[in-house]
Amino acid sequence: MSEGKEDNVQVVVRCRPLSQKEVDAKYKMCVHMNRATGSIRIVRPKDSQSSGEPEHTYTFDHIYPPDATQSSIYDETCRRIINSVMDGFNGTIFAYGQTGTGKTHTMTGYPDDPGVIPRSFQHIFSHIEQADKTKQFLVSVSYLEIYREKIQDLLSKKENAVDLPIKEHPKSGVYVKDLTIVVCKDPKMMEAVMQKGSDNRVVAETKMNKTSSRSHSIFQISVECADLSQLDKDGNPIVRVGRLNMVDLAGSERQSKTEATGDRLMEAIEINKSLLTLGTVINMLTKKNPGHIPYRDSKLTRLLQDSLGGNAKTVMIANLGPAEYNYDETFSTLKYANRAK
Ligand code: ADP
Ligand code: MG
Repeated sequence: MSEGKEDNVQVVVRCRPLSQKEVDAKYKMCVHMNRATGSIRIVRPKDSQSSGEPEHTYTFDHIYPPDATQSSIYDETCRRIINSVMDGFNGTIFAYGQTGTGKTHTMTGYPDDPGVIPRSFQHIFSHIEQADKTKQFLVSVSYLEIYREKIQDLLSKKENAVDLPIKEHPKSGVYVKDLTIVVCKDPKMMEAVMQKGSDNRVVAETKMNKTSSRSHSIFQISVECADLSQLDKDGNPIVRVGRLNMVDLAGSERQSKTEATGDRLMEAIEINKSLLTLGTVINMLTKKNPGHIPYRDSKLTRLLQDSLGGNAKTVMIANLGPAEYNYDETFSTLKYANRAK
């Protein structure tokens, strides 16, 4: 593991518990995790149609077995990224995995068991409270989703906020034109904005006859810090901007070839392509001399271009279902995660 890689790209794996239904149906687990060694063993069920080796073992930067807490994931895996955003660097946290494996549980969670996004609100504002008074902060958020390669503003109800263009500013970099940006003064306000975006997401779903598992959602927080104790040559305070992207990816499951037709098939092809591009981009970032990185091959990587690579920190949280009937998808998620390391 090269030093830069360890700093900037991390891949961790979280396995959810068997659901009550799965316990009642007496499903066995096909995933076995060893926290001491950081390794995961996946065992092919006896009745599986798939061929190949009967079992595989992988290791990752961190692994989170079914009993891992939301706070352990935040503290061990995400906290350092938010700290680096507070210092003016960009950071991105992805939740990857088949629908139903805990992406939204991990990223959003519940009021009594919050996930990464609401935990970051508390963290950011407690950091600001403790900061030197010569530092002045401005925190703003936006919330969007990418559905069928179109960017939709989740904080706007305007009919025309459904295919916003990506633009590039010579100084501040890649941005989405006309995207709603809300300045937030405290964690409560951020939570309200998050809730509003999630509510709009549900409305948009019904309107367009889709499910949230088919789109990528991105919650973006921008932290601007003007340091009054450090002036530039014109006498203006030095301003640093760090951007944090928290991404709940579209479900990685493959559509069964017989079921998907027409729009559903196109949707599936577009999702596969954007997840594949993301995997390729992250994989290339772990290499010493990556050469040409295909950011432009999908809206997701294009939009996050400034937050992937360079000084930016990235973590991919791959989510697994442990039951034997999830074997194929779980194996495919482990292979994806392993390639991204
Ligand atoms: P996804 O967003 O990947 O489709 P969800 O986050 O909606 O999946 O999770 C599916 C179900 O599993 C939800 O009922 C969720 O509460 C539950 N779940 C997911 N991860 C965990 C976990 N680590 N511990 C307990 N329940 C979980
Ligand atoms: Mg979800």
